[in-house]
Amino acid sequence: MRVLRWIGFALAVALLALAVVMGINTARFGGDAPERAAAAPPAPALDAAAIERLAGAVRFPTISYEGGRYDAGAFENLAAYLVASFPRTHAALARETVAGHSLLYRWAGSDPAAKPILLAAHLDVVPVEAGTEAKWTHPPFAGVAADGYVWGRGAWDDKSAVIAILEAVERKLAAGWTPERTVYLAFGHDEEVGGGGAQAIAALLKARGIALDLVLDEGSMVLEGVVPGVAPPVALIGVAEKGFASVELVATAEGGHSSMPATDNAIGRLAEGVGRLTADPFPARLIGPMAGTLDRTGPAMGLPMRIVLANRWLTEPLVLRTMAASPSGSASVRTTTAVTMFNAGTKANVLPQAARAVVNHRLLPGDTVDSVVARDRAVIDDRRIAVRAIDGGRNPSLVSPAEGPPYAAVERAASRVFPDAIVAPGLVIAGTDARHYEPVARAIYRFLPVRTGPAELKRFHGTDERIAIADYARAIAFYDAMLDEAARRAAPGVR
Ligand SMILES: [Zn+2]
Repeated sequence: MRVLRWIGFALAVALLALAVVMGINTARFGGDAPERAAAAPPAPALDAAAIERLAGAVRFPTISYEGGRYDAGAFENLAAYLVASFPRTHAALARETVAGHSLLYRWAGSDPAAKPILLAAHLDVVPVEAGTEAKWTHPPFAGVAADGYVWGRGAWDDKSAVIAILEAVERKLAAGWTPERTVYLAFGHDEEVGGGGAQAIAALLKARGIALDLVLDEGSMVLEGVVPGVAPPVALIGVAEKGFASVELVATAEGGHSSMPATDNAIGRLAEGVGRLTADPFPARLIGPMAGTLDRTGPAMGLPMRIVLANRWLTEPLVLRTMAASPSGSASVRTTTAVTMFNAGTKANVLPQAARAVVNHRLLPGDTVDSVVARDRAVIDDRRIAVRAIDGGRNPSLVSPAEGPPYAAVERAASRVFPDAIVAPGLVIAGTDARHYEPVARAIYRFLPVRTGPAELKRFHGTDERIAIADYARAIAFYDAMLDEAARRAAPGVR
């Protein structure tokens, strides 16, 4: 009896110690986060001429069609429009055309020893889906400013960034401001179809022996009502992006007439292989960028979630299970598996000689196209099903540091313009041009400084794409702040 009492006592002490540790962790959670404003300040005023400069840029149909086709004239006209619209910029900065229609600007810094920075955006837009033209409130390439918005394809993705960057540079020049670091502006012409332009720009910089201190491209945004359980907006700075792999599975069989079927059937065998794949998803894991998102946003959640997130040494399996339960959460904690094609059979009474399926994976940093194909092959575990990657695929990006001077510069610029937002590192699920700069930069960030929520996000690549003029004014203010924070050295000796 006495032994039992001792065990009970020891257990109680252990539980109490656990509660104390979890309590301390919870109290400390988020303690190093910067102060946040309670509400968004009013957007800076924007004059009619500035609004018209964005609307005017939307009128050039710089569409990237599938297969990489585009109308060269539209890009040439847009380039000429930029020269006419931003005279100071085009007088002070050197400009060159790369890979046909991508643009690279160089703004020489006063300190040749300081590493340059690069602000990236893209000139091309996605096509308007055939048959949806009439659903637009204003025609997609009319470039209309009305009801507090600039409307049209590209008004948001990504001409808002191109024109806002140029507005910020033009203002700095008008104010007599000069950068200490050399500033590159890189506007790709084919981001929506792979980004050959950005690749060529990076190769050109590399050939010139240039190493960049920081690259900032589009990617994540200032998200409102998107991060579950978090009321304040979250300015998510993408420090990495997922890759993709399309894997083709082909099962072959003898075929013949269906009146005398053999036991082996190509469709049945392929269906079983696909079934094994979908029943065995890639393991969920918390990578650095997602842990960073939770560390920054967790403190704004309710107490139960705060306790859970502050004690991930104990609760990580629970956190992963919870996140993996929703499609968007799952996409951020695992390499996803989506069966997107299944073709077999031509006639009701003919046994198929082959059955084919395609599985599309989105790769979390840590996986590669090769490792994913190898795992699919192992899970399918049927040597009569050929498994191979098609369409090239793309490995995930490197993970940029979510600390250090370049990240801090982006963080400070975001906090200045969005003082009510939580600034957090994060993972970008889609692809951008940013990854192409890996040969010349270690600190690559993906952030389009525009506030958005679930309803507006449907317009991205969709019908009635638009940007609120107030949000556009904040985007200009952000790039202006970026130049202050990143193109000047933070302190003597800091590079
Ligand atoms: Zn874009």
